[in-house]
Amino acid sequence: MCESPLIVKTVRDVRECVAKARADGRSVGLVPTMGALHAGHVSLIEASKQDGCYTVVSIYVNPTQFAPTEDLATYPRTLEEDVQKCRAAGVELIFAPDNSEMYPPGDQTRVCPGPLADKLCGAFRPGHFEGVCTVVAKLLQIVQPDTAYFGQKDAQQAVIIRRMVEDLRMPVWIEVCSLVRDADGLALSSRNARLRPEDRARALSLYQALCAGRKLLATGEPSMGRVIAAMRAVIAAHPEVRVDYLSLVDPETLEDVQKPHGRVMIAGAIRVGDVRLIDNMIVDLPVK
Ligand code: AMP
Repeated sequence: MCESPLIVKTVRDVRECVAKARADGRSVGLVPTMGALHAGHVSLIEASKQDGCYTVVSIYVNPTQFAPTEDLATYPRTLEEDVQKCRAAGVELIFAPDNSEMYPPGDQTRVCPGPLADKLCGAFRPGHFEGVCTVVAKLLQIVQPDTAYFGQKDAQQAVIIRRMVEDLRMPVWIEVCSLVRDADGLALSSRNARLRPEDRARALSLYQALCAGRKLLATGEPSMGRVIAAMRAVIAAHPEVRVDYLSLVDPETLEDVQKPHGRVMIAGAIRVGDVRLIDNMIVDLPVK
């Protein structure tokens, strides 16, 4: 029982472990993941460890956030490697439930987010953020952490979760950690493992497009249309890549930016073959 991390599959076992940690005077950090862990996930774990938390990592590929046409079946699953990464990072507890533990027989309640969930990715993945909010609400209920750690990589998700926690008066702090990239700039994602070698340069065009947008904004370009056109041109060099969206939005409201000033989030989603990738950057422009 002293081998770390402990791996549990039931709500009851999680509660027992967390109660013991609390009895030892520990605060509790939760890092919700869908597994296939990479350095982006590890950065969230490190943030929790740095805060001194008893760190719980959930590993669960949540079916309700995938549409029937999406990649639930092919989503990478690498539990053994994930456990090793958690061990190296000092995780105390892994919660790896089955579907029946998260969605018990008769389950029917869902957490329905507001209009924030209709924008950006939400416009292309109807129901996705309802699935996300539902599973995150369940995980927060199960673990009852002091802090839950999310990545800026999924910027819209982080905004929606913060809104949910505020709206439902959940007693947890949501910490959003920086986006971690590969050396070439590609945002780390579990889905990168599904890219074929020839898709790598195609996938990188999203990062390059965001960089082009950032550069143009920094020159004082006043037309949002021209910034988006410049970004689209970068991706158009790869005809195999389909753009879901490239947008300039307020990082908190996710509303489209009309005139560039203050904090602007450049966000995009593309499809390379059947792999969907997202990325974003925040640019600080002079306040007008
Ligand atoms: P996922 O396993 O993809 O559901 O991601 C679990 C958590 O890790 C989410 O809060 C993500 O935003 C975060 N995450 C995923 N990729 C990255 C990354 N490249 N940098 C920082 N955080 C990330």
